[in-house]
Amino acid sequence: MKIPFLTREQVEEIVKTCPTPFHIYDEKAIRENARKLRKAFAWNPGFKEFFAVKATPNPYLLQILREEGCGTDCSSMSELCMADAVGFSEGEIMFSSNETPFGEFTKAKELGAFINLDDITHIPFLEKECGVPKTVCMRYNPGGIYELENGIMDCPGDAKYGCTKEQMVEGYRKLQELGVEHFGIHSFLVSNTTAEEYYPTLARTLFTLAVELKNATGAHIAFINLSGGIGIPYRPEDKPVDILKVGEEVRKVFEEVLVPAGMGDVAIFTELGRFMMGPYGHLVVRAIHEKHIYKEYIGVDACAVNLMRPAMYGAYHHITVLGKEDAPCDHVYDVVGSLCENNDKFAIDRKLPKIDIGDYLVIHDTGAHGYAMGYNYNGKLKSAELLLKEDGSVQMIRRAETIKDYFATLDICPQMHKYL
Ligand SMILES: *Cc1c(COP(=O)(O)O)cnc(C)c1O
Repeated sequence: MKIPFLTREQVEEIVKTCPTPFHIYDEKAIRENARKLRKAFAWNPGFKEFFAVKATPNPYLLQILREEGCGTDCSSMSELCMADAVGFSEGEIMFSSNETPFGEFTKAKELGAFINLDDITHIPFLEKECGVPKTVCMRYNPGGIYELENGIMDCPGDAKYGCTKEQMVEGYRKLQELGVEHFGIHSFLVSNTTAEEYYPTLARTLFTLAVELKNATGAHIAFINLSGGIGIPYRPEDKPVDILKVGEEVRKVFEEVLVPAGMGDVAIFTELGRFMMGPYGHLVVRAIHEKHIYKEYIGVDACAVNLMRPAMYGAYHHITVLGKEDAPCDHVYDVVGSLCENNDKFAIDRKLPKIDIGDYLVIHDTGAHGYAMGYNYNGKLKSAELLLKEDGSVQMIRRAETIKDYFATLDICPQMHKYL
């Protein structure tokens, strides 16, 4: 059973000033989770979580995470600018880009970000663009198939990211020649996994590589970035990841592999997105139509523009009908949005209580890769984002888009001026 962090009464109060649809985030739960992650890795003095900005790019939320000791992981110019605006500075930003456009390494270097090179050819690119900083990270791809105890998990061999082991060695040597003094290793091999052995297994891969790289090049490895990928329980029957246990298992591997190699000073970094925010966001929508044809449909006032994961990946997002939490789920619906796209369905053949027009529905676990993935197809506008604060009050942290915003880049077009 998944319980929303909002009641129908609260939503009825909110919609007086901010109509549905909207995304809302739970500050208290975000802070508690961030503290738990810190606790899990408290054994490592240099530990830092660099929140993957792409998951939920909102400055108010970044500020909350900053207060909890997190940095940011950026992969584009706009994300770097947002991190800068919120006040993240030297040592608080990872720049894990790929196919990096010209100009972004310069910005990252100016901000004192850790630059994470996706490829060996980025070394001359970086050097030519702005010169190499004293600390550089390189992204590793072990190739092949990445297996965990419970079976095959993913195929790094098919992924566009990272360097081969030979390239890691060659890259480190080149960077040493260019004056780099401290190094990082980064790798992201499995996405959205609730398998608790993922981080410990990845840690063993990367710690072993770190020892090899140190032996081969003499380089000082300052940090190892386990990156993102820890999943969340989207389905009510899924088990949440016990992060304290994960941290403890990583510690064991650290003591087994790095400490005997004289590398006990390595800092562990993470770059989690989904795990930090996913469960702590809801998309709140309203049932505005019902339709009875070959199936039963409930049409809501949001669409895939507000949450793309179901349309894009067939992802499951749990739905609660507010005020009917305890009612029997004796109806079967497709809950659909208004796009002219048949995959615009938040739920398919979902058992739910009887839904009446005007009911508010909470779509769960939209705190990461939710609002952020939105687009403007069909001329649909992006929603507001709200924050449920620790004192129970609600703050708007992004206003809803207006027609004017949508047409803003057509200001060069005189016919559109009546709408600008
Ligand atoms: C997307 C991404 C993350 C965050 O991934 P989650 O699955 O949200 O944890 C971290 N690092 C990099 C480089 C990414 O591209």
